[in-house]
Amino acid sequence: MRKEEQIRACYHALLGAWGPQHWWPARTRFEVIVGAYLTQNTAWTNVERALRQLRSAGLLNVHAIQTVPLRTLESMIRSAGYFRQKARSLKTFVAFLNDRYGGSLTRMFAQPTKTLRQELLSLNGIGAESADSILLYAGQHPIFVVDAYTRRVFGRHGILPENAPYEVIRQLCEKALAGISAQSAVPVTKTENQEPETVLAVHRPSLMSLAKRSDVAQVYNDMHGLIVRVGKHYCLKSKPRCEQCPLRPFLPS
Ligand code: SF4
Repeated sequence: MRKEEQIRACYHALLGAWGPQHWWPARTRFEVIVGAYLTQNTAWTNVERALRQLRSAGLLNVHAIQTVPLRTLESMIRSAGYFRQKARSLKTFVAFLNDRYGGSLTRMFAQPTKTLRQELLSLNGIGAESADSILLYAGQHPIFVVDAYTRRVFGRHGILPENAPYEVIRQLCEKALAGISAQSAVPVTKTENQEPETVLAVHRPSLMSLAKRSDVAQVYNDMHGLIVRVGKHYCLKSKPRCEQCPLRPFLPS
């Protein structure tokens, strides 16, 4: 099977097993952006704690992040780790947004994908995965997000080596998923070895996950969310749980 066909087969198998995963868990575009910064090198549970702190302090907006003293911001996001670096990066982002787009996310996201991606990548504290998460999940731009789970699954299935360059993986995924209609998802079905709770356990849709987006952006969104679920619950680093994984039929012999 060609690499593109393998990826498409994985997408259909996962979507058929679990249905859409409703990413990203956030209420606003700005919350997605803050989450994309905070989630670098840490577990999402730590990010959630930091986001709760920011929300209850009324700091989850562009103006508040711009004006809050750096030390206060650092203490609010401490649970997310690398808090000094992340606080500075968030300040850098809002300064960029204000200078370049008058503080308007709508104006920023109206830029062509390639242009805005270059601008985001030129900011301190933002790599390809974070830039693409912001573009896809906050801006609804059609760009695939590659993460460590994608690398692990593709490596174990012989699709690409785990250390393949980010751009190679991203472009392969985009090519493989091109032309799929987001509405073509088959109904969720239970497979022989699948644990019953995994069939039912679908995340509650967040406001951002329900945002209007193109078909292609929806497919990238669904695929990334599904891979996250595989990586978190099945394709574990030291001991993969292949017996219960919907991708087991696609393992190389
Ligand atoms: S758990 Fe096994 S079957 Fe599932 S993605 Fe990982 S290697 Fe493949």
